[in-house]
Amino acid sequence: MTKTLHDVRAFLLDMDGVIYAGTEPLPGAREFVTLLQEEGIPFLFLTNNSSRTPGQYVEKLAGLGIHVDEGRVFTSALATAAWLRKRAPEGAAVLTIGERGIREALLEQGFRLVDDHAAADYVVVGFDSQFTYAKAKEAVFAIRRGAPFIATNTDVTLPTEEGLAPGAGSIVAMIETAAGVKATVIGKPEPGIFQLALARLGTKPEETAIVGDRYETDIVGGHRAGLKTIGVLCGVTTAEQFAAANPPPDWIFEDLADLLKAWRRPRS
Ligand SMILES: [Mg+2]
Repeated sequence: MTKTLHDVRAFLLDMDGVIYAGTEPLPGAREFVTLLQEEGIPFLFLTNNSSRTPGQYVEKLAGLGIHVDEGRVFTSALATAAWLRKRAPEGAAVLTIGERGIREALLEQGFRLVDDHAAADYVVVGFDSQFTYAKAKEAVFAIRRGAPFIATNTDVTLPTEEGLAPGAGSIVAMIETAAGVKATVIGKPEPGIFQLALARLGTKPEETAIVGDRYETDIVGGHRAGLKTIGVLCGVTTAEQFAAANPPPDWIFEDLADLLKAWRRPRS
C-alpha cells in the first residue's frame, strides 16, 4: 500500500526543533501553521516540556509571528493532569516536582498540591529547575509508602544555550533509583499523550501525522500510537540517523518549508 501525504487529515506538531530553535523560528513554521489555519486542518502543538503553561507557549509563538489560542497547545503537563483525572478521586493530594506548567494543569483538574509525603496520594514528577534533595526525599518517601508515581516525560537532557542540561528524565531516574519503583510515563514516546491529543483533535491515529525532530520520542511514539510519522532535519536527529532507524519515519523533510512544498504539490 502506498502512502501519500494527502491521506493525512490532521497534524501534531512538536515545537522545539520543528517550529523554533531557542528563540529563532525555523524555516516554513509560520507559513505551514497559516496553511493549516486557512484550510481548517485540525492540528495541535505537542510538547514533552511540562514546565510552561499553554498561555506561556501562546506568547512565545506570538513572538515568532504564529498566532494561535491556548487550546492549540498540548503539553505533557496537560496530558498528565488529564490522565490522572481519569484515575484519581476528585480533590486527591498530589506531591509535585515541577514548574508552573504542571502545577497549574493539576490545579485546573481539581487536584490539591502538597509538599509533605505524609499527605500525598500521588507523586507527579516533571522538569523542575528548582529541584532539590529535599524535594526528592519527600517524593521517595511518598512512593515508598505506596503513592503511585507518574512522570510527565523522561527526556534525559534539555538543550540550553550553554549545552545539554539535565532534563525531567534525569530527575525521574534519581527518584526511581531511590524508590525502587518505575514511573508511569505520560509524555512521548509513551502512548498516553498521543491518545489524549487524538481525543482532543477528534481524529483517528492513521489519518493523523506527528511532525518531529527527535526520533526516540516523536517518531517512535507516533509509530507506537499508530500515527503517520514525519521527521524533520532541522532539529536533533540527522538524516543518517533517520535513515538507519527502524522503523524509519514515513516521510522525511528538511523542515516545514520543505513539507509545505510537498503538501502543495498537486495530487497524482
Ligand atoms: Mg523537538
